[in-house]
Amino acid sequence: SLQGKTAVITGSNSGIGLGVAHELARAGADVVINSFTDDDEDHKLADEIAREHGVKVRYIQADMSKADECHALIEKAGACDILVNNAGIQHVAPVEEFPVGKWDAIIAINLSSAFHCTAAALPMMRKAGWGRVVNIASAHGLTASPYKSAYVAAKHGVVGLTKTVALETAQEPITANAICPGYVKTPLVEAQIPDTAKKYDMTEEDVIQKVILDRQPSKEFATVEEIGGTAVFLCSSAANQITGTTISVDGGWTAL
Ligand code: NAD
Repeated sequence: SLQGKTAVITGSNSGIGLGVAHELARAGADVVINSFTDDDEDHKLADEIAREHGVKVRYIQADMSKADECHALIEKAGACDILVNNAGIQHVAPVEEFPVGKWDAIIAINLSSAFHCTAAALPMMRKAGWGRVVNIASAHGLTASPYKSAYVAAKHGVVGLTKTVALETAQEPITANAICPGYVKTPLVEAQIPDTAKKYDMTEEDVIQKVILDRQPSKEFATVEEIGGTAVFLCSSAANQITGTTISVDGGWTAL
């Protein structure tokens, strides 16, 4: 059980982050959820998770595109035994047309925030004598797709950061690993469907089957519960010697 542990999950008012928050709470951890907004719904989500799993849950607003807000998130959390670097955005365009602002935002949110939050959390983990860094990378941390230069670069970067943090903590009871999901049906993926349909002049259903799941041999989306369950496993004692590596949850994508 993760009772007595505090988990901070970045970008967790939606999708995979929210799913991971639920599964860590189900396993007994107190949870901090986060996004850049500060709406009633955000705080209601925290109350819902708390009620469902009987743990303490707080929502802390912080913009993961900004270094100081990454540090402030971990400081406000007060404890961070489990850090899940999950915040992420996507933009799809050919390299020569890729908007510079989108490149910068993707590198900041998908890669640099993991660095800043890890830097802020490691001293707390060392003080507590236990820690887990779980980075939500992607199949795109291991392979590429056209038109996703910033995302693929950021996710490969996350995998490299994961290995480095694992080496720096190798002789301590702290591990760092990356989960590499294939396609999970979340708002991030749903938003890509109309764009891709336009680009390839296809129906949205054809985009799902022939473009998105074309890469995923199982022909099924992974679920946020499955990603959350993998995070719980990485926090278990069975995973004490698993560090500096990636776990694919991709229906066979990277076996192709
Ligand atoms: P999502 O859009 O549902 O969730 C993204 C989360 O990040 C949201 O909670 C959003 O509020 C938050 N976020 C965005 N910008 C932020 C910022 N500046 N500061 C703080 N929070 C911010 O998408 P998702 O699919 O759940 O993606 C979560 C992570 O999983 C991302 O890192 C994504 O790259 C990765 N991933 C997703 C898939 C997939 O198929 N959905 C596959 C592989 C990896």
